[in-house]
Amino acid sequence: MDMRVNPKAKLKLVMVGNGMAGVRTIEELLKLAPDLYDITVFGAEPHPNYNRILLSPVLAGEQTLDEIVLNDWAWYSENGITLHAGKTVTEVDRVKRVVRATDEHGQRVEAPYDRLIMATGSNPFMLPIPGKDLAGVLAYRDIADTQAMIDGRSARPGSGQRSHETRYDGERGSRGALAHGAPA
Ligand SMILES: Cc1cc2nc3c(=O)[nH]c(=O)nc-3n(C[C@H](O)[C@H](O)[C@H](O)COP(=O)(O)OP(=O)(O)OC[C@H]3O[C@@H](n4cnc5c(N)ncnc54)[C@H](O)[C@@H]3O)c2cc1C
Repeated sequence: MDMRVNPKAKLKLVMVGNGMAGVRTIEELLKLAPDLYDITVFGAEPHPNYNRILLSPVLAGEQTLDEIVLNDWAWYSENGITLHAGKTVTEVDRVKRVVRATDEHGQRVEAPYDRLIMATGSNPFMLPIPGKDLAGVLAYRDIADTQAMIDGRSARPGSGQRSHETRYDGERGSRGALAHGAPA
């Protein structure tokens, strides 16, 4: 049996995180070496890549979610990218070189890799105060948070720029509360 590795076979590139920085990296890779990789992207959010920075105008009713999409579903298929949207990577097996992910229904999917990019961004810091785990207490990070604030009542522990941008929310008629730990 011929055990040689096919030199023409593409390397498998897996990226964990379907956000702004990661997908921008993929765009550059596609320009530099369009035929080098078979690309698979895992994104915990059930959306294509969107401009997170523009969530504030969405909250304010100035833009729609569709308008802030940077790479639509077609972009992934046109570039031969397998996108697992709504799948959170829970395990990286570095010995077998496989990542494993699961969706909200517990459905599991895995993908082997030769190269792995971790582009998972960050989670907002939640003030360690009583009630922080109650329903309706949100960080402000993604479309789901934005939609929750548009849909109804919310409280946000925090005092950064994002918190103050939620004041826009009041202009839409949604009621929210803002808590911060430092003197104003
Ligand atoms: C409302 C708002 C306004 C902002 N405004 C500005 C601004 O004006 N200027 C500025 O410079 N920055 C701004 N930022 C910050 C900016 O959006 C981030 O710095 C930028 O999005 C970081 O890009 P990223 O790709 O590293 O991470 P992200 O865009 O956060 O993307 C990471 C992705 O990885 C996914 N992920 C995480 N873990 C897993 C996992 N285990 N499996 C699968 N997927 C996973 C996440 O769900 C997320 O979709 C703002 C952020 C917000 C929320």
